[in-house]
Amino acid sequence: MKQVVFISGKGGTGKSTVVSSLSLIVHNKMMADCDVETPNLHILIKGESIERRDYFGGKKAVIDYSVCMQCGRCWQVCRFGAISKKLEVLPMKCEGCGVCALVCPCNAIRLDDEKTGEVYVSSTDRGTFSYALLDIGGEGSGKLVTEVRKSAEGQCKGEEWLLIDGSPGIGCPVIASITGADAVVAVTEPTMSGLSDLERVLDVARHFGIPAFVCINKYDLNPEITEQIERFCQQNGFPVIGKIPFDPAIVEALKNFKTPVEAGNVEFTDEVVKLWHRLVDELKKLTV
Ligand code: SF4
Ligand code: SF4
Repeated sequence: MKQVVFISGKGGTGKSTVVSSLSLIVHNKMMADCDVETPNLHILIKGESIERRDYFGGKKAVIDYSVCMQCGRCWQVCRFGAISKKLEVLPMKCEGCGVCALVCPCNAIRLDDEKTGEVYVSSTDRGTFSYALLDIGGEGSGKLVTEVRKSAEGQCKGEEWLLIDGSPGIGCPVIASITGADAVVAVTEPTMSGLSDLERVLDVARHFGIPAFVCINKYDLNPEITEQIERFCQQNGFPVIGKIPFDPAIVEALKNFKTPVEAGNVEFTDEVVKLWHRLVDELKKLTV
């Protein structure tokens, strides 16, 4: 199964719109939403839940007062102020670093797993779909992304493609989204910050040796910066495989929880179909 990850330097560039639309166009595929902090693909791809499990991405210190001799060392060493002078652990402040447990002379402190999210798998009329919801302020977003991908891989029944809505940015979750993938498609918008974000996110893909392609969303809103993006991509060997025009009807479709493809937006659908065919052609070139 080939894995294609759609990423962006920041949220809101339209990658989920592209992925949800491709879920109606590409055959023999599965989908995964690895944007675990702000997932929204499950709003556009509905199905029947076939798996749900808790995710434990954090640790919290717990003091066993039956063996604590109240020496106060844990309170002294906790640099997060997560242990009060009365030797109570303040869960909201505890980062689970474990230093308190290391210094405790009585082994009175243990680190318990903390639930920080849930992983779901749905059966949909477009294929199997895996996603997760990270709790607000929950830890372990990178590992949760890996869990989502593992869930999808575990459900594979010979599908040819896994379309992944990746995490935005350049941090741990995006690295977890793209590691081991066959290709990334960076979705960007024609603004100066969009170009700067694009450069950063393509650097990440290049660093990990993953073939990267570019889609410029709303390209006609700023032809000059679109040209700059295309020039940058050409000079740096990143093929631009999609240019999607702005259309207020796309916003209307999304407001009604529909992809532009479902809403019958012909121009958008044509562009996304072309993007997919170009991507497939580019990937073929890489294998010959
Ligand atoms: S695990 Fe770390 S953050 Fe939590 S109470 Fe212990 S020292 Fe503080
Ligand atoms: S370091 Fe251990 S023994 Fe000392 S106060 Fe903390 S829990 Fe109690």
